[in-house]
Amino acid sequence: MTKLVKLAASLVCLGLAACAHTGGMTPVAELKPGTAWVLNSDDWASEAREVFAEATQHVDALESARPDGSWYVVLDLDETVMNNVAYQVELDRTGASYQTETWFDWTQQEAATPVPGSIEFVNHVNRAGGHVVFVTNRLDREQLATESNLAKLGLLRGRDFRVLLTRASPEGTSSKEGRFALVPEMLRVQGYPSTVSLAYVGDAKGDRPADWDADAFFCIDNGAMYGDPCASVPLSGR
Ligand SMILES: [Mg+2]
Repeated sequence: MTKLVKLAASLVCLGLAACAHTGGMTPVAELKPGTAWVLNSDDWASEAREVFAEATQHVDALESARPDGSWYVVLDLDETVMNNVAYQVELDRTGASYQTETWFDWTQQEAATPVPGSIEFVNHVNRAGGHVVFVTNRLDREQLATESNLAKLGLLRGRDFRVLLTRASPEGTSSKEGRFALVPEMLRVQGYPSTVSLAYVGDAKGDRPADWDADAFFCIDNGAMYGDPCASVPLSGR
């Protein structure tokens, strides 16, 4: 059993809504502030729900003027739809930093939990007649486990999302611009000839096109755990 598998087993309580915000079963004093905040604070969950509520309002204001199937929303995955705080807990406890191989091992466990509000938002977009598109910097070699993890969260390709674009390894770029630009063509060949994006949702600055309207980008606060966070006020108090 790998260390990460053991960790995941020990964190079962911490991943459950009933006990996630009670301080957990084990001391968390050694966790970094952002990790502890995401793991234990009600603020993180309520901030995330608030962002998804704002995104829902935005989409609702625009979609009624558009035919079903003619629009889409792009979401990042990690710390936007999939909560990987258990991986960060292991890093904090061992004093390690992010490594491609330990991250790969984590993705293969398919143990990410949902970011609060994300599943409801995806379901809302589908009910409203939009397409859900995921653009992630998870690698292509992690795609199968990622889709399986999403299925465990209740999100199925073709039913709940139509496009999932990973980052190609080893030469693919972390910039998502090229993949964002592909989305309308990918929808066209699936039978939707003319589509526009109504919103982007993510937790990092690169989760929307560089020239995208800031008012139509909805940012989840990831507690400054990863990347180049888009939260204007990392940790509580957006
Ligand atoms: Mg992310």
